[in-house]
Amino acid sequence: MSAGRVVTHSPVVFRIPMRTRFRGQTIREGVLLRGPAGWGEFSPFPEYGPRECARWLAAAHEAAFEGWPAPVRSFVPVNATVPAVGPEQAFALVRQAGCETAKVKVAERGQGFAEDVARVEAVRDALGPGGKLRVDANGAWNVEEAVRRLKELDRFDLEYAEQPCATLEELAQVRLLCDVPIAADESIRRAEDPLRVRAAEAADIAVVKVQPLGGVRNAMRVVEACGLPAVVSSAVETSVGLAAGLALAGALPSLPYACGLGTMSLLTGDVVGESLVPDSGRLAVPARPIQDLSDISSFEIESPSWLRRMQEASL
Ligand SMILES: [Mg+2]
Repeated sequence: MSAGRVVTHSPVVFRIPMRTRFRGQTIREGVLLRGPAGWGEFSPFPEYGPRECARWLAAAHEAAFEGWPAPVRSFVPVNATVPAVGPEQAFALVRQAGCETAKVKVAERGQGFAEDVARVEAVRDALGPGGKLRVDANGAWNVEEAVRRLKELDRFDLEYAEQPCATLEELAQVRLLCDVPIAADESIRRAEDPLRVRAAEAADIAVVKVQPLGGVRNAMRVVEACGLPAVVSSAVETSVGLAAGLALAGALPSLPYACGLGTMSLLTGDVVGESLVPDSGRLAVPARPIQDLSDISSFEIESPSWLRRMQEASL
């Protein structure tokens, strides 16, 4: 592409089945947009209305039309993600991933706490004593359960617990009653949320995602204003969206924790040939947004409703 030439391309709607259910979803859909800087991803979850979607669209526009700020690091460490599987599978998964950090799903509906303990123990065994182990309850516990269970799980040396309870008030109470650091994830869906988390003293760490925060630059401003250390995570995106997450993780002045950007394996396919899959527990920060969708043909769908959704978000 010659410098300054505007590349035009119609938006592409994709639909990719997921390997395991996530947030109640079994497929991931969205729109990919092409601008002079490259491709951007607009993939808000189904329950989001036009106001929330506007921020997701701003992130796609940033990638397509502006590109991203220069990074301060070339690689970003990522965590392995362990779903609510049995201990043998959890052990194998962590060994296979080769990451120094693992995030373990706990509090899965229909399972007991004994299953959480067995899974966390197996992951600690797989990581060895030097590895970092975090758990994610997706807001499922009440305060009493969270305090009791985190204290018990902390014998496997927890790095932090992601969203042990649903509300800011509950998170703040857990923080007072238990030594395990608390990360807010579901509590951060909009740009103003990190500041509310900080004001409520509800978390030690902010999990941030580029699309809901309205792009890389906006997310950087939010992280700076919030003042909490950030863990950059994906919204289970294609490599187009993951590239934006890596741009944020690459540009933040401080990045003390492994990021949740190794999520490509949750999808059964990708829209590019060179997928952003971690190697030795890390991902390279891309120099610019994705330029070519070489593998889009198997996942492209006709979807007037997605194009309408995008249009409504831009009004
Ligand atoms: Mg989470």
